[in-house]
Amino acid sequence: MRRTFKKGGVHPPDMKERTRDVPIAEFPAPALVMIPMAQHFGSPALPVVGAGDKVAKGQLIGKADGRMSANVHSSVSGKVLRLEEKFTPQGRACKTVVIENDNSGIWADEIPCGRDWRAMSPKEIVEAVAAGGVVGMGGAAFPAHVKLEPPHEKPIDTAILNGVECEPYLTIDHRLMVERAAEIITGLRIIAKAVAAKEMVVGIESNKPEALKAMNAAAAGGGIRVEALDVKYPQGGEKQLIAALTGREVPPGKLPFDVGCVVHNVGTAWAIFNAVAKCVPLIERPLTISGDAIERPANLMVPIGTPVGAVIEHCGLDQKVKKILSGGPMMGMAIADPTIPVVKGMSGILALKKVPHDISGPCIRCGRCIEVCPLGGIASEMARAIEAGAIVDYEHLHVFDCMECGSCSFVCPAGRNLVQYVRQAKEEASYRRELHRKQQAKKQI
Ligand code: SF4
Ligand code: SF4
Repeated sequence: MRRTFKKGGVHPPDMKERTRDVPIAEFPAPALVMIPMAQHFGSPALPVVGAGDKVAKGQLIGKADGRMSANVHSSVSGKVLRLEEKFTPQGRACKTVVIENDNSGIWADEIPCGRDWRAMSPKEIVEAVAAGGVVGMGGAAFPAHVKLEPPHEKPIDTAILNGVECEPYLTIDHRLMVERAAEIITGLRIIAKAVAAKEMVVGIESNKPEALKAMNAAAAGGGIRVEALDVKYPQGGEKQLIAALTGREVPPGKLPFDVGCVVHNVGTAWAIFNAVAKCVPLIERPLTISGDAIERPANLMVPIGTPVGAVIEHCGLDQKVKKILSGGPMMGMAIADPTIPVVKGMSGILALKKVPHDISGPCIRCGRCIEVCPLGGIASEMARAIEAGAIVDYEHLHVFDCMECGSCSFVCPAGRNLVQYVRQAKEEASYRRELHRKQQAKKQI
């Protein structure tokens, strides 16, 4: 019997057939790349290059600002033209290094290398991952080295790889598993060594038989369990995946560490392998380009900092396009500016002719959003409170546990974009939390 998480979930059409069997192709590096310093959760990196500097491929151009930050490297060799303020696909304005590609493709010193990760200590592994600027590639872009150094009082027994890819349309994790299974499995072994986990598990939904076969073959005889899971969205959420694979429930407000687990996306494991075993930093990322407004859907390996418009042009765009998204249709963010760059946490670009949520009516209290929410239906309550202008303790309603999976919006017959309400509630709760922190600090003076 296959497994899945218990609470909530939906079954959107998977729409993966357009790119499922399309191998990953190299996207040629463009004439200009624009590399943001804020591609990750946490503090933006601090630029260490200026206009006129020559840079090599893989050279450090932004240094992590503290532990909760990530290094940033050049994805091409060339000359820095300028530093400018620019928006990322997440709508975050930050310093961005604009580099003119000289097309020589010359690597920075000592990249790539051949390093025996088995001879490295956990500390050396964490340092190599941090040096390589690796962040979560499933979307959240959490600095990977932070997850590899759990608090001492919270030992990890299970290292989990997330190969679920439950977002409709996206097939890039699937293709990575089919084409680079051995590197991903080595990445998992490196992760397990860093956190001293005894168990290693990979979760893949059963609609990816080729990926299951390739990962099983790469993991054979090595103490790794590759699990075929039932298809259900949002199984790619960390808490849902942990529940599906181990039966453990991560309580509200807690993290995977709290139940002895660490979870990394399969793309992140591949990037960790590159950073640790080959000294290659995260300077390119695999992407699915799909949607009914894309003429030649593809899976591409794209240099970080490539303008989204250049990638779309490469694949051909139908003029009837209504919306372009970074990511999948459930959790993706709309992109209006084609010069916005590809970043480390971007898993796909979708161009769609039909826009969901173009009609929104009043709530008819059907309760569907409550049934499907993995948290027990906080969205309708928050939407009601926000519409009424009521003062509500959103934190108490576990607003920060909402992963913005979009299941509630997906099932709402009134077409209400409930995720927008939850985002608004998060902003209000964050504001109040900060206000409270400042008031407490004042009292202590
Ligand atoms: S409230 Fe958040 S977690 Fe629940 S279904 Fe909506 S988006 Fe998903
Ligand atoms: S699904 Fe939509 S209409 Fe039904 S209760 Fe939730 S918000 Fe109201």
